[in-house]
Amino acid sequence: MGDPWPLAGRHALVTGGGRGIGAAIARQMLALGAVVTITGRDQGRLDAAATSLGCSAVAMDVTDAPAIQNGFARAAQVQGPITILVNNAGIAKAAPFAKTDLGLWDDILRTDLTGAFLCTQAALPGMLEAGWGRVVNVASTAGLTGLAYCAAYCAAKHGLIGLTRALAVELASKPVTVNAVCPGYTETDIVADTIANIVAKTGRTPEEALAGLVAANPQKRLIKPEEVAEAVAWLCLPGSASITGQSIAVAGGELM
Ligand code: NDP
Repeated sequence: MGDPWPLAGRHALVTGGGRGIGAAIARQMLALGAVVTITGRDQGRLDAAATSLGCSAVAMDVTDAPAIQNGFARAAQVQGPITILVNNAGIAKAAPFAKTDLGLWDDILRTDLTGAFLCTQAALPGMLEAGWGRVVNVASTAGLTGLAYCAAYCAAKHGLIGLTRALAVELASKPVTVNAVCPGYTETDIVADTIANIVAKTGRTPEEALAGLVAANPQKRLIKPEEVAEAVAWLCLPGSASITGQSIAVAGGELM
């Protein structure tokens, strides 16, 4: 029988862990024996999620560098050095390129790319000191291919995969791996908002909008947050030590 608690003694910090994919990742980390800290901007929602999951919570905005330094230090004080970092917090907004103004571009780049950069800088010294670490970036299929009306999101997620690859090579001589998972459309608030947006802009029904989103997925369905969480957790297992710099699609065969 395998070890039922392969992540015992590890402290996993999951950004955006209060809902959606992040909450599923936090639940999976806890199930494998890690202690977990979830982060997000909304203290009330975060506390409620932490109580229901059975973990700690620290409110911080991933675009706020000083708040991240303080928040990571507080999390480490409470539960020990952060040896697993899941950069999951993200936003997705679609717009035709001509309507992608600098505000939208900056919002997405700062949250989905610079946020992961800042959080990784805050966590990495502790991992190197502990002599073990896992960084998993939640990118997207939009990090691996182009999508219409998603220039800012695609740029941010392609950037996140570039960061993953560069850091994996830079850290290859250390016991720290850096990988990305790339979900296809997944059943969370982001997809609910996307469907509402398509309905409002095109007059399609919600069912037609959903069919459009899953059309490129050979399995013709949305991904479940738990399926993304399983892939993230697998990358954090002790036996995954030689897997680094990878961008693993969790997308029903949409990309291969
Ligand atoms: P949700 O909208 O359900 O959750 C997003 C999470 O990110 C929330 O917990 C939110 O917390 C947090 N967040 C957003 N902005 C910030 C910020 N500035 N600072 C701190 N936390 C922030 O989305 P998903 O669960 O669907 O998305 C999670 C990740 O998965 C994202 O990176 C997304 O790009 C990626 N992804 C999602 C797909 C999908 O179809 N759902 C497909 C591919 C990738 P709060 O609002 O409380 O601050």
